[in-house]
Amino acid sequence: AFAYSSASELYEHIDAQFRLSDNQLVELTKTFLHEFKLGLEDYGHAMAMIPTFVTGVPDGTEKGTFLALDLGGTNLRVCEVVLNGDKTFSLRQQKYRVTEALKTGEAIALFDYLADSVDAFLTTEASVDYTSQTDKPADVIHLGLTFSFPVEQTALDSGKILTWTKGFSARNAIGNDVVKLLQDAFDRKHMHVKCVALVNDTVGALLSRAYQSGGCILGAIFGTGTNGAYVEDIAKIKKLQGTPVASKGGYMVVNTEWGAFNNSRSHLPSTPSDNALDRLSINPTFQAFEKFISGMYLGEIARGIIVSLIDASPKPLLFNGKSTPSINNHYGIDTSFMSNVETAWLGKDACPGHIRPPFTELDGSTLSSNIQTRLEAIKQVIVKDLGLKPDQISLKDAAIIRWVCGLVGRRAAQLSGVAVATVLVQTGRAVLPGETGKGLKDPNDKILVGVDGSLIEHYPGFEVTLRESLRYLVGQDVESRVDIGLAKDGEWGWGGPMCFASPQAEV
Ligand code: ADP
Repeated sequence: AFAYSSASELYEHIDAQFRLSDNQLVELTKTFLHEFKLGLEDYGHAMAMIPTFVTGVPDGTEKGTFLALDLGGTNLRVCEVVLNGDKTFSLRQQKYRVTEALKTGEAIALFDYLADSVDAFLTTEASVDYTSQTDKPADVIHLGLTFSFPVEQTALDSGKILTWTKGFSARNAIGNDVVKLLQDAFDRKHMHVKCVALVNDTVGALLSRAYQSGGCILGAIFGTGTNGAYVEDIAKIKKLQGTPVASKGGYMVVNTEWGAFNNSRSHLPSTPSDNALDRLSINPTFQAFEKFISGMYLGEIARGIIVSLIDASPKPLLFNGKSTPSINNHYGIDTSFMSNVETAWLGKDACPGHIRPPFTELDGSTLSSNIQTRLEAIKQVIVKDLGLKPDQISLKDAAIIRWVCGLVGRRAAQLSGVAVATVLVQTGRAVLPGETGKGLKDPNDKILVGVDGSLIEHYPGFEVTLRESLRYLVGQDVESRVDIGLAKDGEWGWGGPMCFASPQAEV
């Protein structure tokens, strides 16, 4: 908690901790580029830069019916996608629940369940009558697996599970090939299904946007976590040198695992709230960038500031010192609270700008009815999401809460812009301020980016601020050509098939 002599000084102090100057953004991008290069050189770096062995990106002309299996978090999805060859598609999908017992039991039971789910889907949901193919054993159904856990990939259809995340801990899985685990389960059940491709959700976002838009250079997730995958020249993936795929040249999608940027904690300016979050997390010092950016953490960072203001001495600076279980409990405030606060503030009409420290507007009686209405709306969100009573919340409290959410959300979006800028510079599509390039790649083309995740989809202003940061880093011309589109692979789970549907792809 804070001891302060002047409230306005304290507000300014907190505000300054979360502010990133233009110069800092540039320096962070340079460091990011450096970590990209290290990761591309060899294995074992924080930024893993995992080669995905996806060497072709769809252009929208792909045709056919494909089967996909997506294991990401709470649900397992089986999906059949029909690509029409004109950037459109139709799909059928079914969700199957993964119980705690399956997540934490024996891997073999988990993979048997995956196979059973595919079997159930094929019998009850699929449009193509796959069963008629069974008397012709040569007709094997190809399936793509989207697997959103860290995997060290060694081929398009093989990869070793490095670690479980998101509450999974199935035994006898780590160190094993996830495709083999799944294929063995299909084989045990004598199913004519062959898992031919394994992709990460970021790769899925990239590929599904590419199919729908005729191309894509970056797939990025801003959801529970954050990560990105982009199209890289194979020649620059130094750690593949000497392997057969490297000698062929061309390009390959790289899964950056950029959530691990700044694991050394020497680059990003951490605030006390960030430090507490990291210290109390299940993975201290890991996924450092992700902890500044993603949905799992933003609410908790905001909670840290809120608690400090409630506990401030000599006098509380928020809610008159009152709190609730949501405010007191670890992870008691969800990032959707911040979205709700922003939505309430923005209202339906033009935004009245920001109310910033020292909040003098709130001390007099000069508040416009426009601003008053918005602050009242924020009060309602606080009542609903944090559990305080209306009479425990002043309009100034509401203004302070909006300011706090703005600090945390804005920083996250600015840093997301840094990650996107890094990819643009790395791929020769942009240069940083003050640097001169030899000429940009495809200088007039649209730069297609596929994104997925609740933050980018629902957090008001997230993309606007991401773009603001990007514009500073790569210039207006490049930024205006960046076309960010939702590629909801998480929902569709059809990234897997995309990499073998693609004519350029080698399976
Ligand atoms: P995943 O990344 O697991 O596929 P999502 O993209 O839905 O899932 O992200 C879930 C995360 O987004 C959660 O951490 C949650 O706190 C956060 N979240 C949920 N709703 C919102 C919202 N309206 N605005 C911002 N964040 C949200």
